[in-house]
Amino acid sequence: MEHINPATGDRTIIEESPLEEIPTLVRRAEEGQRALTSTATRERIRFLRRLSDALDQRRSECVSLIGKEMGKPAKLADIEITRAREEIDFLADHAEGWLAPEPCPGGKVHFDPLGVIAVISPWNFPFLLPLRSIPSAIVAGNGVVFKPSELSPRCGILLTEIIRDTLGANREAMQIVVGGKLHGERLVSMDLELIAFTGSTNVGKSIAAAAATRMKRCLLELGGLDAAIVLRPVDLHSAAREIVLANARNSGQVCNAVKRVLVDREIFDAFVEAAQEVSSALTIGDPSEDRDMGPLVSDTQLARVESFVADARERGGRILTGGERLSRNGSFYPHTLVVDVNRDMRLMREECFGPVLPIMPIDSDEDAIRIANDTRFGLTASVWTSDLARAESVAQKLKVGVVSVNAHKAGPPGSPWGGAKESGLGRMKTREGLREFTNLKLVTP
Ligand code: NAD
Repeated sequence: MEHINPATGDRTIIEESPLEEIPTLVRRAEEGQRALTSTATRERIRFLRRLSDALDQRRSECVSLIGKEMGKPAKLADIEITRAREEIDFLADHAEGWLAPEPCPGGKVHFDPLGVIAVISPWNFPFLLPLRSIPSAIVAGNGVVFKPSELSPRCGILLTEIIRDTLGANREAMQIVVGGKLHGERLVSMDLELIAFTGSTNVGKSIAAAAATRMKRCLLELGGLDAAIVLRPVDLHSAAREIVLANARNSGQVCNAVKRVLVDREIFDAFVEAAQEVSSALTIGDPSEDRDMGPLVSDTQLARVESFVADARERGGRILTGGERLSRNGSFYPHTLVVDVNRDMRLMREECFGPVLPIMPIDSDEDAIRIANDTRFGLTASVWTSDLARAESVAQKLKVGVVSVNAHKAGPPGSPWGGAKESGLGRMKTREGLREFTNLKLVTP
């Protein structure tokens, strides 16, 4: 298959896994998993420590490949590796206790491995996201068949090499399938115990449907349409800056980017003015340059973003910044603010996955809550005000997996990650997240 560097247009040919080889890869993972289960949890925790060290040692290789394959600026790619290591280190510190048999009424619960699981990942965090599943799967004693995105295949190949090296004698427990949708479908059709999928909601639904026919488990981390709600009193400049940055990061290609802003009408104009200042100052360029934004991942994604902006224009939206692709080589789109927004616009209903931010006035807390919840998605949200009791009260009513106050972010290692509604099923990163990769078995004495 061909991969196109989104910043330069350079093409690379990458060898796909033959589709007919997938059953063999699954069998190899099964054999590797049998060997892995004979190791103690403590030995598998040593694997986590070696993995974290290896990622640090090969950090510059990872960072450079992330930039070449999906266009992320080097500074952000470096943070991606750091965050992945922090999560692995946290897991290594807690896995032994979380996997130890637990007394309960009637006996003890054991946390047995499931067998072989599939990890299917997107391209927007090509190291961090598979590294949310694979270390948990392996420390719990499972084999893994990993399918990275066709838009970041070499990141997937490098990550697999690092994991297999650190697994040493147990390396066969980790296998990779290189390819696109067809490869994903074929993998999902295999007799696997769990499919840990991160990606779009539509693909997540098709995976859940396929898994249901064989009564297999799914762990689904899907799309979002996150709202940032700005209420009085608030530090307007700080909120405007952080909200624009939480949309622009990774060129808007983040599942929990701010994708809609709802602002108290009394401060709407001042907020828009402050946001405009931040948006128009954002720099854009090649991933190796020290810029705020790189390119979008592909020309297909660029065309999608353009179609959302065209739709907003047609429905009466006013574009305050950006709004046109850059006339240079590569898939570059500038940061774009939209006002005069209405809820029929695609920007307010679907996930655009680009650096485009619609801002809408609201008249009350109830108005904000109703509009924020008026979506099939429920990933994260944020509330911005120095009235913390008001923020808490609004946060309670939002139907999402995470609400941040005066920030828009996921929680630190050890906090739960996952969405409500059509943003996902299950949670990652916590004790419960690790136990998603196990079979809870009650043994009565
Ligand atoms: P995608 O759903 O198109 O693809 C994700 C992966 O699934 C890729 O590896 C792809 O090859 C594979 N795939 C595609 N069709 C398949 C099928 N029918 N069966 C099996 N596998 C299939 O998503 P994407 O464009 O790569 O990523 C962007 C999406 O991911 C956005 O919606 C974003 O919000 C979401 N995302 C969610 C999280 C989260 O933690 N909730 C994190 C990152 C991205």
